[in-house]
Amino acid sequence: MRVAVIGAGVAGLTCAYRLTQRGHVCDVYERWPGLGGQAATIDVGGGHLLERYYHHLFTSDRHIAALYEELGMPDELEWRPSSVAFFLEGRSWPFTSPVDLLRFRPLSLASRIRMGAAVLRLQRGGDDVAPFEGIAAREWIRSAMGAEAYAKVWGPLLRGKFGDRADDISMAWLWGKLTMRRKLQGKESRQELLGYPRRSWEPLFGALRDAIEAGGGRVLIDRPVKRLSAGFELEFGAPGSFRSGHDPRVFDAAGRERYEAVVATVPNDVFRGMLDLELPRDYLQRLDSIEYHTALCLLLELDRSFTPFYWTNIADPELPFVGVIEHTNLIPPERYDGRRFLYVANYLAPGHELLSLDAEAVIARYEPGLRRINPAFDRSWIKARWLHREPAAQPIVTVGYGDRIPPLQTGVPNLILANTTQIYPEDRGTNYAVRLGGDAADALIAG
Ligand SMILES: Cc1cc2nc3c(=O)[nH]c(=O)nc-3n(C[C@H](O)[C@H](O)[C@H](O)COP(=O)(O)OP(=O)(O)OC[C@H]3O[C@@H](n4cnc5c(N)ncnc54)[C@H](O)[C@@H]3O)c2cc1C
Repeated sequence: MRVAVIGAGVAGLTCAYRLTQRGHVCDVYERWPGLGGQAATIDVGGGHLLERYYHHLFTSDRHIAALYEELGMPDELEWRPSSVAFFLEGRSWPFTSPVDLLRFRPLSLASRIRMGAAVLRLQRGGDDVAPFEGIAAREWIRSAMGAEAYAKVWGPLLRGKFGDRADDISMAWLWGKLTMRRKLQGKESRQELLGYPRRSWEPLFGALRDAIEAGGGRVLIDRPVKRLSAGFELEFGAPGSFRSGHDPRVFDAAGRERYEAVVATVPNDVFRGMLDLELPRDYLQRLDSIEYHTALCLLLELDRSFTPFYWTNIADPELPFVGVIEHTNLIPPERYDGRRFLYVANYLAPGHELLSLDAEAVIARYEPGLRRINPAFDRSWIKARWLHREPAAQPIVTVGYGDRIPPLQTGVPNLILANTTQIYPEDRGTNYAVRLGGDAADALIAG
């Protein structure tokens, strides 16, 4: 078959690669002038690439590790000890090992013990998500760990990721986070190991592109899909269309091609915007029922280290961001000729006022908060800055989400949709995008 794959993120590239392996010829259309989607890199100068959004892997991420092996790049992934902290009540509390939980004074000792015991119980409780699907994380945590643990730890974390929808988030999502990523037993019990590819995520995208092209396909960056019509006639937008936003309807048309099958890996609303063919009503309702929050991510190059930790969760609601991720506390600065990089993370509801600000204005808003974490922080530490926004960064996984997920098969023969809304109950990530890309190829071939 001649297949159009829409989106050159991890799912789209993996899907096209899997189809190529089975003798199909794929053209991959990508809106952005680069590969990798949410895991795309930027050139930070000096010959170094860095992801626009902080990225690492967990040791449980076996699908992407297997892909690296398969592509002949097994040495690309390096595993390094992580360090995590919680910023709460005016200071950063280390939160790397179970012992740190016992020392976490913002919670009473009884709450600490109860929380640790509840996490262990979850991790030992088997791999069936069903008991957690019908209950909100808030209810479950308050009953299993106590109101204090929700108020001081889990509530702020959920609010950080899901804003005012925090109280509605399904326990299934939190169960996935707590049980799948790392066990509090065995060799990782004292310090978690995180993976990062030696030369950023970019070589993986390049290897997938080469394999797709070797099979006769094309990987077309800066060529967004504008419209998808009956008979799989695909209209693509003019170069530079990405400058006018994400809605395919506003792109200027630049040409058309016809395909025998289409796999779309774009967010639900983008998919909706390009559809010029009939899909079953129930399917469209599922697409429309899922909301996303936007990631607003500030990447700073600093002239010195900001925290002693790789990952700091912000549990203080006064601070206007949700996490501080010091990349060069996971990957040594020597890898970047001594340069240091810090991401300041945020997830915001669409239309939030911070989303309309430029990098300088965001820094001005974040500065007092950054100083709360490190009182010595000064703007003069900042040597360079980059600001990125990802509108469909985080599907809002409320109670009953599992029943609303759109299937891969759209109801139109040979039209598949595969995007982050279908990653469940796991938290979306590049590992699951690899799995999803393979599943999308299978779904297309199965018909
Ligand atoms: C802030 C943040 C931090 C993250 N941290 C991690 C992490 O630490 N580890 C991890 O594994 N994962 C992490 N992720 C998640 C991970 O990046 C995603 O789950 C994964 O990359 C999704 O891949 P995808 O291919 O499904 O979707 P996407 O990457 O969203 O790919 C969709 C592609 O479609 C393209 N597109 C959009 N419109 C059009 C159009 N009209 N025509 C053609 N193409 C179009 C997009 O440009 C994009 O390239 C993070 C994500 C964010 C936002």
